[in-house]
Amino acid sequence: MDECIFCKIIKGEIPSKITYQDDKVIAFYDIHPVAPIHILLLPKKHIININNVTGEDENLLGHMLITVKKVAHEQGISEKGYRLIINNGPDADQVVQHLHFHIIGGQPMHHPMG
Ligand code: AMP
Ligand code: ZN
Repeated sequence: MDECIFCKIIKGEIPSKITYQDDKVIAFYDIHPVAPIHILLLPKKHIININNVTGEDENLLGHMLITVKKVAHEQGISEKGYRLIINNGPDADQVVQHLHFHIIGGQPMHHPMG
């Protein structure tokens, strides 16, 4: 998608601090981290959000979760833990309309549902 900021990052048209990429996914540091470790992981395919995934994306979504494991291990947060968040749609304040996982860790966090 021409106007999508994350597609521009994937194409290298906007700089980012990439921590992992392969032919299907890319992970880079969030520019406004909310914790010591805040990484975004997204498919290179432009999918707006979970509402737009289909059966064709089954392998891709599985690959994303396996990549979360890899990134967390590289960041040294596997054992201590981390939060994995998808902001999906308007009520969740999804700002960038390209599916992405937030991997957030490096400090203890209170439970979001209180
Ligand atoms: P959301 O769509 O609400 O799940 O969040 C979008 C996230 O993208 C926010 O945490 C932003 O800080 C982050 N973000 C926006 N633009 C960039 C960028 N150019 N590089 C890295 N992170 C970004
Ligand atoms: Zn996109």
